[in-house]
Amino acid sequence: MTETYDDIRTAVRSLCQTFPPSYWRELDAQRAYPEAFVKALTEAGYLAALIPERWGGSGLGIAAAAAILEEIHKSGGNGAACHAQMYTMGTLLRHGSAAQKDHYLPAIARGELRLQAFGVTEPSSGTDTSRIRTTAIRDGDGYRISGQKVWTSRARHSDLMLLLARTTPREQVGKPHEGISAFLIDLREAEPPALTIRPIRTMMNHATTEVWFDDLRVPGDTLIGEEGKGFRYILDGMNAERILIAAECIGDARWFIAKATDYAKDRVVFGRPIGQNQGIQFPIARAFAATEAAALMVAKAAGLFDRGAACGAEANMAKLLAADASWQSADMCVQTHGGYGFAEEYDVERKFRETRLYQVAPISTNLILAYLAEHVLGLPRSY
Ligand SMILES: Cc1cc2nc3c(=O)[nH]c(=O)nc-3n(C[C@H](O)[C@H](O)[C@H](O)COP(=O)(O)OP(=O)(O)OC[C@H]3O[C@@H](n4cnc5c(N)ncnc54)[C@H](O)[C@@H]3O)c2cc1C
Repeated sequence: MTETYDDIRTAVRSLCQTFPPSYWRELDAQRAYPEAFVKALTEAGYLAALIPERWGGSGLGIAAAAAILEEIHKSGGNGAACHAQMYTMGTLLRHGSAAQKDHYLPAIARGELRLQAFGVTEPSSGTDTSRIRTTAIRDGDGYRISGQKVWTSRARHSDLMLLLARTTPREQVGKPHEGISAFLIDLREAEPPALTIRPIRTMMNHATTEVWFDDLRVPGDTLIGEEGKGFRYILDGMNAERILIAAECIGDARWFIAKATDYAKDRVVFGRPIGQNQGIQFPIARAFAATEAAALMVAKAAGLFDRGAACGAEANMAKLLAADASWQSADMCVQTHGGYGFAEEYDVERKFRETRLYQVAPISTNLILAYLAEHVLGLPRSY
């Protein structure tokens, strides 16, 4: 918990300064992908932070990766365009074969291959992953994949997709989450009608899509690990995902707090700065306290994760507290800005829309609370 990664933070901040608020604002208006930003991050090696050095990455831990994403968000940017590469790669790293790792990881580390798409959620199953309907049926030495995914972010900006599909029907397995397998699909080799990707326009600039698989033939070596164990492999990566997204929330919260504080000092109404009024000061101070507390939990979870210790409770609490702190800070920031909180040129409304997502995705607040109630407090399972 003591390492603060100041060098990394300074370097990321200076990279982010070359992408000013106007860059993000214009992309937001066009709902366009931040191609230049992702390229710069890739070339600087940040997206390969978690890839071990033997495959060309920096071999850093989750705390360092969290520092990178926090700084991006604190600078007013958004890591959602590429953050998944950091945590989806973990499934390949932990459960992929030696051949798969040697084939993919160096190319991902060099930035020649993007692994940014993660296909789990489906229209009819929602949060209940055990009910996914996408199937992968054995066919000779490969599989045939059919089904539909929704909210598959960055699928149009990724070369590879980590996909969950059923290889054994739910009725034929002992536990609901068995019989689901993980595949690493090469999107470059797939074309309509076997694979169709359509963008979904959302309230913020997020390159998310719907994906249809119609008898897509994939080779057998796209399977990761053992057939039927895919859900467990994905679960292993969930703590990393929670911690990294929590770090983005902390970055957002700190951006909102700095923005509101500056504005409250400058804006003069009734002959004095609005920040002199406790009605303005206190919500800023409250958001600040909530953010600092959440940041401690993020650091605790990251520290446990990097030591290889169990951190399910801490990673979930970090995501919960950080998402709440960023949303509290966002609301406070709009209120502090009055009417200008709604004006595009202040960036507050954009960040407000962006940070709202974390109450829902990648895991909704309710499901985190249910996890804590059941697995940490020992209360009866509620669903
Ligand atoms: C912009 C965006 C990007 C995304 N990117 C990806 C991606 O890249 N890959 C991917 O696979 N998915 C992605 N998702 C999907 C995201 O993970 C899901 O939206 C999220 O997990 C919630 O699932 P759902 O939308 O189906 O909601 P539902 O499961 O239908 O739930 C709806 C509401 O009911 C609540 N709820 C459901 N069950 C319970 C219960 N038992 N107890 C209490 N409350 C409950 C939920 O908390 C939620 O608030 C993305 C979503 C968005 C919006």
